[in-house]
Amino acid sequence: NERIILAKRPQGMPDESDFAFEEQPLPVPQAGEVLVRTVYLSVDPYMRGRMSDAKSYAKPYEVGQVIAGGAVGQVMESTDPTYREGDFVTGSWGWQRFAAVSTGTLRKVNPDLAPVSTALGVLGMTGLTAYFGLLDIGQPQAGETVVVSGGAGAVGMIVGQIAKIKGARVVGIAGSDEKTTYLTEELGFDAAINYRTDDLKAALVEACPEGVDVYFDNVGGDVSDQVLRLINKNARIPICGQIALYNLEKPDTGPRIQSLLLTNTALMKGFLVGDYASRYNEGLHELAEWLRDGRIKHAENVVDGFDKTLEAFLGLFTGENLGKQLVKVSKE
Ligand code: NDP
Repeated sequence: NERIILAKRPQGMPDESDFAFEEQPLPVPQAGEVLVRTVYLSVDPYMRGRMSDAKSYAKPYEVGQVIAGGAVGQVMESTDPTYREGDFVTGSWGWQRFAAVSTGTLRKVNPDLAPVSTALGVLGMTGLTAYFGLLDIGQPQAGETVVVSGGAGAVGMIVGQIAKIKGARVVGIAGSDEKTTYLTEELGFDAAINYRTDDLKAALVEACPEGVDVYFDNVGGDVSDQVLRLINKNARIPICGQIALYNLEKPDTGPRIQSLLLTNTALMKGFLVGDYASRYNEGLHELAEWLRDGRIKHAENVVDGFDKTLEAFLGLFTGENLGKQLVKVSKE
């Protein structure tokens, strides 16, 4: 069995020397476990946080241990009568080709409903993040303006489309012209801004003539500083992610925005998708319906081969992905 372990804690931007590939004997499932063969594995920005030992909401990875994270696989051997050989499952066994996993930590995936890879994206963690963060905290109303940063990523593109379903004007911010074109041409965003090449301040003013009612923040940093200057009275600002800060060694200091929140009586609230676990079924049900009815589309950026895992992970920080970044490890 091949797996990827954390070799040392990254300083700043991680590189391949922070990880190691390791060969292990094939695990043997114990009582209550199944042996799974990984079909897809997920690489996610939050994993960067777990590679540090700074205190956070998720436990740090241990040096020398496999990188845990979302994966989809097929059961090869089972000790639990409710799981059969051939079943597709999703869990968090992470960056390894095979794993013996306790069935209590797994969810079955029905390959007849949607491609199994969607269990890691639109019908999984990133879709649910978009759904609850936007609807519970952002609460977009018809006619309002919603801005989403990281707009062409796994979470961001679903946020924008749900906001369109709710009747809002949607503006996406992303890092390439290919991405901004995709948002407006394929997903129906009203406007999209390339934060790397456009004059962000001027482009935002033009794209948001009536100000910003909801700002769904995936990135933080300079992009967010600019958007926040345009918030309206009673704006809502779900803080989902701050990827622009994840590789900084020193804390970032930004403009003091509290007076903007005060004078606009705005709500800024961080959230973790895991806090909505008791409502996942509700979210998955509605997302699946929208997907089936063609009201939302999703994109995946799939790299082929377990040996490409690190490249795929590091690419999240340079914006290689349009949509959910996945690694295909073996055939379905
Ligand atoms: P994405 O698919 O959005 O991938 C990351 C994207 O971030 C890249 O494609 C890149 O796009 C953009 N990016 C990278 N570096 C920067 C930077 N310095 N400034 C601006 N943009 C940057 O990932 P996810 O959809 O999985 O996650 C999006 C965000 O949501 C992350 O911050 C993540 O940590 C957070 N998250 C939070 C959860 C929660 O429970 N709160 C759950 C899941 C995710 P571009 O080309 O546009 O730069």
